[in-house]
Amino acid sequence: MIGLVFTEEQNMLREMVRDFVNTEVKPIARDIDENEKIPEDLIKKLGEVGLLGTAFPDEYGGGGFGEVGYCIAQEEMGRGCLSTSTLIGAHQSIGSNAIYIGGTEELKQKYLVPLATGEKLGAFALTEASAGSDSFNVRTKAAKDGDHYILNGEKLWITNGGIADIVSVFARTERGISAFVVETQWDGYKAGPAEKKMGIRGSMTNAITLDNVRVPEENLIGADGRGFIVAMKTLDAGRLGLGACCVGAAKEALELSAKYAKERKQFDAPIANFEAVQFMLSEMYTTIFAMESLVYRTATAYDEGKKVSTEAAAVKLFCSEGLDKVVDYAVQIHGGMGYSREIPIERMYRDSRINRIFEGTSEIQKLVISHSVLRTNGVWGA
Ligand SMILES: Cc1cc2nc3c(=O)[nH]c(=O)nc-3n(C[C@H](O)[C@H](O)[C@H](O)COP(=O)(O)OP(=O)(O)OC[C@H]3O[C@@H](n4cnc5c(N)ncnc54)[C@H](O)[C@@H]3O)c2cc1C
Repeated sequence: MIGLVFTEEQNMLREMVRDFVNTEVKPIARDIDENEKIPEDLIKKLGEVGLLGTAFPDEYGGGGFGEVGYCIAQEEMGRGCLSTSTLIGAHQSIGSNAIYIGGTEELKQKYLVPLATGEKLGAFALTEASAGSDSFNVRTKAAKDGDHYILNGEKLWITNGGIADIVSVFARTERGISAFVVETQWDGYKAGPAEKKMGIRGSMTNAITLDNVRVPEENLIGADGRGFIVAMKTLDAGRLGLGACCVGAAKEALELSAKYAKERKQFDAPIANFEAVQFMLSEMYTTIFAMESLVYRTATAYDEGKKVSTEAAAVKLFCSEGLDKVVDYAVQIHGGMGYSREIPIERMYRDSRINRIFEGTSEIQKLVISHSVLRTNGVWGA
């Protein structure tokens, strides 16, 4: 099988994460789902091995692996547990990354360093009742009061909202949407109970209330009124990482399915002998091949400093829908066993569904892509 060309460091990173996932994550992935909780001990270990700051440069406490390295790490984590990869994604790729992309040097030293080293956990709070797909319609207010802003409002569906120390919050000032670093121990920050979800049940999701939270003006991420740009740039990276998680989960589903198809016998033959099953495996493989190619091609361009908003939307759209197709076939190949909570396929089927919803639904990715196609008259590369 042909492979993508990675550097020696990137291959070592992949081996390290695969080992970590095999020993520390896979054995407890079922408990994480059943108990609806990622153990604190695992979160601590993620920080210790550098998985909470893989992408960021060394000077900010990160691993210096950039977006490609982050995708490698998230692909491997996606193989083992999509709840854990979601915790990492919300913490690193969007929560902390907003500070990396838009923050001052002081903000980076004060907040990004402890986030990247895993001393603190991060989150990203954009969504509200009125601002789901219409994410520009943020109603949370940030009123200027001397050298502070006073934040009031409610955020919904915030991953890590109940366990994070530091949250990148988007709120409306007189100048427009602005981004702020908020410490969760400040007066007025309150996380609601964990949402009861269909999948990624170990990843905690909460509503957040901001009740007169006083935020110093130096905690503005980017200029006042320029927060939506920070949010959109951050989501480009978020969507690539999310695609990588899908690649990992899909590869795991293919491996489990190929193994099962050879072991399971019906009509005196392994079900792998039946063309219908072989065709499902072929489609799974081809979909994954395309997903993987999209993720690393786009992550490489991102690391080269290219603008990849359209491509990142395409990655997110194709990989999230691709994973759903792959895990659906995986359930089918496993027959009744695929429906049983005894094996990981059932959990993977439930866990994958969220990828078509968060960080922008499939329909919103299609809007981003079609706007770009129409703007450029469909001219490739324009
Ligand atoms: C488990 C989970 C974790 C999350 N984590 C975070 C987080 O950490 N931070 C954060 O800020 N948010 C988070 N979210 C929120 C998530 O990003 C939103 O749920 C998502 O963007 C969709 O918004 P909505 O739920 O309001 O759906 P809606 O916007 O109400 O969409 C409902 C349906 O209408 C469709 N639709 C809406 N507008 C259009 C349109 N113009 N054209 C075509 N179709 C349209 C949508 O595609 C969808 O099918 C999370 C959500 C979940 C479920």
